[in-house]
Amino acid sequence: MSEEKSTKIASPEPVVSETMPTVLSFDVEEHHRIEAAAGIEVDRSLREDYRRRMASTTGWILDRLAAREIRATFFVVGQVAEDDPGLVRAIADAGHEVASHGWDHRRIVAMTRDAFREDLRTSKDALQQAAGVAVVGYRAPTFSLVRRTAWALDIMADLGFLYDSSIYPVRHDRYGIPEAPRGPFVAEGERVEILEIPPATIRLGRVNIPVGGGGYFRLLPGPIFRSALSLSRRDPRSGATMLYFHPWEFDPDQPRLPLNRAGRFRTYVGIHQTRSRLERLMTGRRFMRAVDLAMHLDERRDRLPRFRPGHGPGTPHSPR
Ligand SMILES: [Zn+2]
Repeated sequence: MSEEKSTKIASPEPVVSETMPTVLSFDVEEHHRIEAAAGIEVDRSLREDYRRRMASTTGWILDRLAAREIRATFFVVGQVAEDDPGLVRAIADAGHEVASHGWDHRRIVAMTRDAFREDLRTSKDALQQAAGVAVVGYRAPTFSLVRRTAWALDIMADLGFLYDSSIYPVRHDRYGIPEAPRGPFVAEGERVEILEIPPATIRLGRVNIPVGGGGYFRLLPGPIFRSALSLSRRDPRSGATMLYFHPWEFDPDQPRLPLNRAGRFRTYVGIHQTRSRLERLMTGRRFMRAVDLAMHLDERRDRLPRFRPGHGPGTPHSPR
């Protein structure tokens, strides 16, 4: 720990200033798209119910953001734009960023390069059509940008994306590149590079603890979650606090999916408190949309750490 502290003091001036911004991001997908429900047959009427509930809960989120004059980033599944273009338009019209969460929520690890290119291009087109503005941000379903899918970075850059937010710098059974920088960095693909804005973590000893959202947001007691976030915010290497949520997490009365015990716990734990928790998170911070942060960082690219996810496992290689 003491070694940690001294490195912290010696680290260069943060790229985003001492009042590091928080990015609130929402992955807009229906309730049954969660990884824990993979392989579960969900009938049509339940899917439609989830779609309606997703739209109304997103409406609640938009109301709360408007009440606090906060602008956020919404990573939306392309099929949602096809089914409900009005919802995507409402998000954009309220001043929020519409970004891509893939076409049909397939994970990158389940796709070939060509399939990913098609998935990304189709989602970008559908979202742009619905939102009426350019889509330049991407988040992979289930943070599935891992070492073996690092080729996806090149495809994002090819298709005109400015930034990615898919690399979780943690060790996890399904995702993560634990050696990746914890704050914004330049991710080097095979040919080109792209800005990466990873979800928030805190450093405990030599381990990164994920605190960006999802189960951690619902599972950890509120005060602990908030103090973890302020720790992350004070650490110059975290650069910015990227948080992620899903509309279904704010829908306590949703019909439950027939998940196994672990899945049920991970999915529904704490779900009755999430609305008030989100409200509490919305005070005392400086908020920024991911695209605005990315544009700010883009002008300072030479000062950001560089990391090549396709190489490794290993440490960040030196700047070119
Ligand atoms: Zn998702």
